[in-house]
Amino acid sequence: MPSLPAPFARMIEVRGMPCTVTDTEDLSPSFRRVHLAGERLKGREWAPCQVTTLLVSPTAFRRYTPDAVDAVTGRMSILFYRHSAVVPGPPSPGDAWLDGLAVGDPVSVMGLEATRSFRARAEPGTTFVCGDATTVGLWSSMIRWLGDRGRVRGVVEVPAQDVPLVRDLLPGVQVVAQSPQPGEALLSWLGDAPPEAVTHAYLSGHGQTIQRARNLVRTRYDLHRSAIYTQPYWATGKVGL
Ligand SMILES: Cc1cc2nc3c(=O)[nH]c(=O)nc-3n(C[C@H](O)[C@H](O)[C@H](O)COP(=O)(O)OP(=O)(O)OC[C@H]3O[C@@H](n4cnc5c(N)ncnc54)[C@H](O)[C@@H]3O)c2cc1C
Repeated sequence: MPSLPAPFARMIEVRGMPCTVTDTEDLSPSFRRVHLAGERLKGREWAPCQVTTLLVSPTAFRRYTPDAVDAVTGRMSILFYRHSAVVPGPPSPGDAWLDGLAVGDPVSVMGLEATRSFRARAEPGTTFVCGDATTVGLWSSMIRWLGDRGRVRGVVEVPAQDVPLVRDLLPGVQVVAQSPQPGEALLSWLGDAPPEAVTHAYLSGHGQTIQRARNLVRTRYDLHRSAIYTQPYWATGKVGL
């Protein structure tokens, strides 16, 4: 549902959880974290991998992953990767919406759910994660949620200018500088990945890269297909997955 005529989009938006922007933080050239508060966030059961939908223009919906939810105080945050900040031309609808967002603005949070096939599992052992800049909030929440119940290892590619920030956000995960070709740096790292006893793996981010990474991860770590969970977040040539 990337877009709908404005009256229908509005009908869906009003059914979401009404929230207010309480803060925005520019963490690095491409990463902005937005903090939201809303009464209906209180009492929600939350775990990493839950995603929500936001209306970013009168007609366009986009999906994002809260990196933290506090169901007691009714607060949550989302880590946005401003992908069109690193390419010339006008910003994408999602980035344009983000650029205009200010403290006090209302935001309707539509849903907060994970799919059956891509949900956080607190299993012992090593969780391998693999993705790009759109997945940093997801992996960061998973590392904090697992705590000392499990180890997180893996690889993430982000623009070179954001590598120091993402290294801080994702302890234990290799952070490599991306090249203009999505997935190139990540797949190259995976091809030479050091040995690791991995229990299961989560792959997310660029759809076309996930397909190739899946085979590499499966053979490299000798994982059964059922132990590899995938969720594309965007795809070359598509808007708003
Ligand atoms: C379930 C789910 C959860 C998600 N969670 C997050 C999240 O927490 N944080 C986050 O930042 N993103 C997240 N995303 C990704 C985000 O929704 C997409 O990147 C989306 O396309 C952004 O919308 P847009 O309006 O900026 O660009 P669009 O209008 O959708 O796309 C415009 C153009 O930019 C390209 N494009 C889209 N994303 C990227 C990218 N990352 N890098 C390079 N080119 C791109 C498209 O292929 C298209 O050509 C999530 C996506 C899904 C499906």
